[in-house]
Amino acid sequence: MYSIKILVLSDIHSNFIALEAVLKDAESYDAVICAGDIVGYGPDPGDSVERLKELNPKAVLGNHDVGVTTGHGPVSNFNVYAATAVNINRRLLNQAQLKWLGRLPETLKLDLMGVKVSVFHGSPYHPIWEYIFPQEAKLRAREFLEAAKSDLLILGHTHVPFIHRLDKRILANPGSVGQPRDGDPRASYMTIEIEDEEIETFNHRVRYDIQETEERMRAKGLPEVLYKRLYIGR
Ligand code: ZN
Repeated sequence: MYSIKILVLSDIHSNFIALEAVLKDAESYDAVICAGDIVGYGPDPGDSVERLKELNPKAVLGNHDVGVTTGHGPVSNFNVYAATAVNINRRLLNQAQLKWLGRLPETLKLDLMGVKVSVFHGSPYHPIWEYIFPQEAKLRAREFLEAAKSDLLILGHTHVPFIHRLDKRILANPGSVGQPRDGDPRASYMTIEIEDEEIETFNHRVRYDIQETEERMRAKGLPEVLYKRLYIGR
């Protein structure tokens, strides 16, 4: 019997302290999937990108990754705090890191031991920008799974975790490592275990040192509202 364990991360948002806490908590895994927004908002884009690169992840682009790597265009879609953080994050990354981020695909299709997996930051229709919150995901699970032609569809972007099962198929969002918004400030991530084409998914929450993240954010001149929200998970 052969099984694999996959670590699923999303919306790390340059929160390196939270990322480290998640990796420590997850202990061992065979592969890493990332549903986008590696950078933006937080204080440590460079360390976050480097740490992620070491894990050789299957990753897609998020809207903040686009803003940070292009430095224009989509930035106009951000509110003033997000845009400020995008600009600060861009300055904190070197050329190689920007290049690595900019080369991430918008969509990802994987075959994991016979299980068809799709990954989008937003939705199958608008991979970068569309928000699919848990309630809508539940109502439209069949439609989304069919649109993505997948057994397992992973979304990010909302920072709100969910796992919806439909027959043997699953639509899920791992929540956000670096800026949870479901009222629980702990870092959120997901693990998938596949054995004999059976899929099991688990959501995990991990405490991390939010104060340390706040100090780093202050030192980099990031807006107060962006570290205040970390304490309440909103
Ligand atoms: Zn995000």
